Amino acid sequence: MDTKLLSGKDVSKAVYKSLINRISALKASNVTPGLAVILVGEDPASQVYVKNKTRKFSDMNLCTDTLKFPTDTTQSELLSKILELNNDEKYHGILIQLPLPKHFDSNTILNSVDSKKDVDGFHPYNLGCLTAGKPTFIPCTPKGIMRILEYYKINLSGKHVVVVGRSNTVGRPISILTSLKKAVSNATTTICHSGTQDLKCFTKQADILILAVGSPEFLKRDDIKDGAVIIDVGINRVASNSPKGYKLVGDGNAASLIGKASAITPVPGGVGPMTIAMLVENTIEAAERNFE
Ligand code: NDP
Repeated sequence: MDTKLLSGKDVSKAVYKSLINRISALKASNVTPGLAVILVGEDPASQVYVKNKTRKFSDMNLCTDTLKFPTDTTQSELLSKILELNNDEKYHGILIQLPLPKHFDSNTILNSVDSKKDVDGFHPYNLGCLTAGKPTFIPCTPKGIMRILEYYKINLSGKHVVVVGRSNTVGRPISILTSLKKAVSNATTTICHSGTQDLKCFTKQADILILAVGSPEFLKRDDIKDGAVIIDVGINRVASNSPKGYKLVGDGNAASLIGKASAITPVPGGVGPMTIAMLVENTIEAAERNFE
């Protein structure tokens, strides 16, 4: 079977193109969409993610500032900074780069972001709206996955979607989005996790299989059915001979899935670019809402 590559890079280009007029309209009213990113500690992967996210804002002449804090920053210091940013008109969106060092209570930190600036969609208010199918900031990665499926006209209605992973950032929200009673979703969704018994029994039933596990190449050819669509969210660093000393692989073993799956998102170049595109889109949306 020919396996179609679902390029998030291509979809993200279409998204950026669609945003140009919206940015121009805001700028004509003297509004430049702005994002504040909070980065605590020295985690190298987080630093790369933040660089990639903010680069796109600069490319599009949007405002972005990364506020870096040392690992030993206290919770109350961070909370007072977030309060300041909540009241700063320059920033329409605030992003807290996760994971935070262990001494932070991440929920308290995320909940302190004004829900109107919560462009990551992690605030309980926005997650509640998402669950109720009401307009809201949708977390960027799940929103990006839905856009990839729409772009490639992969119909979810009546299909069995199996999500592996139940994090609040990816697995849980995508399981909700795919099962909403809406034209673009309406799937029967199963959510699996580390407590699932006989995972393979579920993955083999999936018409659309969404992998958000964080375990390199753990899903293989025998774990899927013929013609399944694989959305591989995983970004895992594994040692390689490349100059960097590592390469990125997904949660699926792409080499073995190609030829059996009908379509697959590559890693890199699949879901990753869409996460960034949706962050830009959500920030523009926040600026528009603020302006209305
Ligand atoms: P988390 O670690 O928060 O969640 C992982 C989930 O996988 C958990 O629900 C866990 O179960 C489940 N899990 C772990 N091992 C197994 C197993 N053997 N069988 C079944 N389920 C298992 O990760 P995230 O959701 O934050 O991220 C997942 C992956 O996606 C990572 O590789 C991350 O780097 C990547 N990612 C990529 C993004 C992109 O833009 N492409 C954006 C965000 C993340 P339990 O709940 O029981 O612990």
